[in-house]
Amino acid sequence: MDRIKRSILVVDDTRANLRLLTEILNEKNYTVRPVPDGSLALSAAMAEPPDLILLDIMMPGISGYEVCEALKADARTRDIPVIFISAKSEILDKVRAFAAGGVDYITKPFQAQDILLRVNTHLTLRSLQQRLEEKNARLRKEITERKKVEAELRKSQGKLEYAQKIAHIGSWESEVATRTLTCSAELYRIVGAVPGQFNGGIDGMTDRFIHPDDRIAFRKMYEKLLTARERTSGKFRTLRPDGSVRFVWIEGEPLLNDARETCKVAGIVQDITERRKTEETLRKYAAELEIAKKKAEAASQAKSEFLANMSHEIRTPMNAILGFTELLISQVYDKKKKTYIEGIQTGGKSLLMLINDILDLSKIEAGKMELQYESVSPRTVAEELRNIFSLKISEKGLDFITEIAPDIPDYLLLDEVRLRQILYNLISNAMKFTEQGYIRLTLEKRSSVENEGHMDLIIRVQDTGIGISPESQAAIFESFKQQDGQSTKKYAGTGLGLAITKQLLEMMDGSISVISDVGKGSCFEILLSDVVVSETSEDYDTDRFPKPGNFLFESASILVVDDIESNRVLIQEFFRDTNISVTEANDGQKGLAIVRTIAPDLVLMDIKMTVMDGKAATRQIKGDPELKHIPIIALTASALREDQEQIMKAGFDGYLRKPIQRSELFHEVSRFLKYSPKEQAGLMKEQPPEMLAAGSMSAEDMENLPELIHLLESELMVPWEAARQNEFFDEIEAFGHQVSALGEKYSSDMVRQFGETLTEQASSFDIDHMNATLDAFPELLKQLRSLNTDTDEETDHADGV
Ligand code: ADP
Repeated sequence: MDRIKRSILVVDDTRANLRLLTEILNEKNYTVRPVPDGSLALSAAMAEPPDLILLDIMMPGISGYEVCEALKADARTRDIPVIFISAKSEILDKVRAFAAGGVDYITKPFQAQDILLRVNTHLTLRSLQQRLEEKNARLRKEITERKKVEAELRKSQGKLEYAQKIAHIGSWESEVATRTLTCSAELYRIVGAVPGQFNGGIDGMTDRFIHPDDRIAFRKMYEKLLTARERTSGKFRTLRPDGSVRFVWIEGEPLLNDARETCKVAGIVQDITERRKTEETLRKYAAELEIAKKKAEAASQAKSEFLANMSHEIRTPMNAILGFTELLISQVYDKKKKTYIEGIQTGGKSLLMLINDILDLSKIEAGKMELQYESVSPRTVAEELRNIFSLKISEKGLDFITEIAPDIPDYLLLDEVRLRQILYNLISNAMKFTEQGYIRLTLEKRSSVENEGHMDLIIRVQDTGIGISPESQAAIFESFKQQDGQSTKKYAGTGLGLAITKQLLEMMDGSISVISDVGKGSCFEILLSDVVVSETSEDYDTDRFPKPGNFLFESASILVVDDIESNRVLIQEFFRDTNISVTEANDGQKGLAIVRTIAPDLVLMDIKMTVMDGKAATRQIKGDPELKHIPIIALTASALREDQEQIMKAGFDGYLRKPIQRSELFHEVSRFLKYSPKEQAGLMKEQPPEMLAAGSMSAEDMENLPELIHLLESELMVPWEAARQNEFFDEIEAFGHQVSALGEKYSSDMVRQFGETLTEQASSFDIDHMNATLDAFPELLKQLRSLNTDTDEETDHADGV
């Protein structure tokens, strides 16, 4: 039963018929709308289309045919089934009725059953038809949508193919059960196959298109994909039908079904032939570049080494030239000749200056310049510079001002010699380029930076001289660069001083800059970052310790354990020329092994090391009854007292703080090793003993010894006195030249070496050693004299025989 009541329009001009039909239909639960004529029927049907119409033919006004035709002509009513009911039973009438669009024809008088049967049949037919239409409509919609999707798919497929083509990436999919293979167009292109050529599935493809040497590997990868359930990839070669080989990257991934079984494997194939070529070319270039770089570095290193050696070698003959001109000049009274000699002297001096600078610069560039950090008093350095320069500066009518900020600590960890060299350069320049006004040396702390035990030191050298043009300001820090148009006659110089200064500062983690106004003056500013503050002078006061030369150690063996080679070498060097032999180890474990085999007399142990650190190694040694007597001195970089206390608690017998000085090392070692104090030798206390090996003079040279002594006494005592009093580097250097020149002439190594040492100390601003050497000059004479008497005695004795 239809839940919705069906509505039926009944049209008949005979009232009795209308009523009867209404009754019959009402009884079967249809909604009936009876109308008595054609035009009413039309308007009722249009207003509210019924599900079915029972229509009489013969009616006044519009006939049933006409009503039906009108209904069929209108879209709203076209599909309503119309059943004619008529007294006309001619076949032609029926034909007419069907032609007008009726679906059935009932002749009067009618049977109620017949009416109901036909009404029901046509209503069912109608509803079936309606459903069919709905389905058709849905189908039509689905088809349109599908077409749209297909078009989209085609578009993205096209895009995908295009992308694959550009990227040389093909995609593939293989059924596990059948081992069939489906591939993208690009994949076919990569392996040089015609689309569809992989009919043989994965196996056929492998046999035809994978390079024979790679087939086993490829099969293994495919099988792994099936079993391992994880993404797998590999590089293979494919063999195209034309014989060419391509390199491909194949990647695959298993796809699982609902039962979590691998049903498919899918992935990509990328042509990496071009990429490989590019990579190979790049690798080749990188290797070539590396070789070229190494060659260039080696060449630069060789150049710097050559320069360093050459300038060192030139210095020896320069000593003779300068020394003899110096001696000569005091003996020549002819004015003209004197100017010639002075010419040689000036030329020689600038040549020596140039050579010294080149030596320094090339040493820095060849990495041969090593910094020696020690506790330095900035105030003392400033004071020394004041002593050196004050006379010359006041001779020029200039003022020399030194300003040291009160918060500058008493002691800083610096390379004193190099710091002095830098400041000497800057103050010399300031003096050279200033005619009136002042030169000011300032030392201050950079306020912004304050971290425990460290500080940033700012040093300024300011003058009121000629100034430097903005264009020249950057250039002057380069080698051999001077201000444009600078008169070489007026301002002698090598143009290397600032280049050396800059490089030295870079080695010290510092920097230099200049601010200058032409005609007003210049200010050179140095920044030394993170300078370590020495807590007390005591810690680093080298005078506290006897001079290393005063210890005559008995023969002993020391093991130095340190992971930094230069530290080990330094200690080896310190003990050269002593009776102590040094063995090395570069970590705690190796150190321990050596201690167990050779049981040295003492161990110097670094704290922080890889593999086994110093503390662990010490614990092991001290825990061994047979070894625990061996003294161990810790080498620590820490300046903190707590750290040192910790170290002592860890079982060490002593400690030394880095950077280690020879005097401290010897002092500390002397607490544990036997030695006899050496007599204060006086002459060249710090010099290696071989310097005294003057006895190797030949008989002929010995004959000339009295002459040498005489010359030294008569010619050099006055310059020596002057040099000692004035403390001018130039004068001391000149005195050194004279001594070494005489030493060279009279083949006395002792004298020559004395002179050379002094010149070297003066030219490298090594004031302490320089003064000690200078003071030892009378001792040199004394030793020469005693050598002379020895020979005299020998000769006398020989004569007597
Ligand atoms: P040198 O002084 O031997 O020529 P430097 O490298 O020390 O070499 O200096 C390079 C140049 O920088 C100098 O020749 C000079 O032109 C310029 N210069 C350096 N210091 C000053 C200064 N205080 N005043 C003016 N010019 C300076």
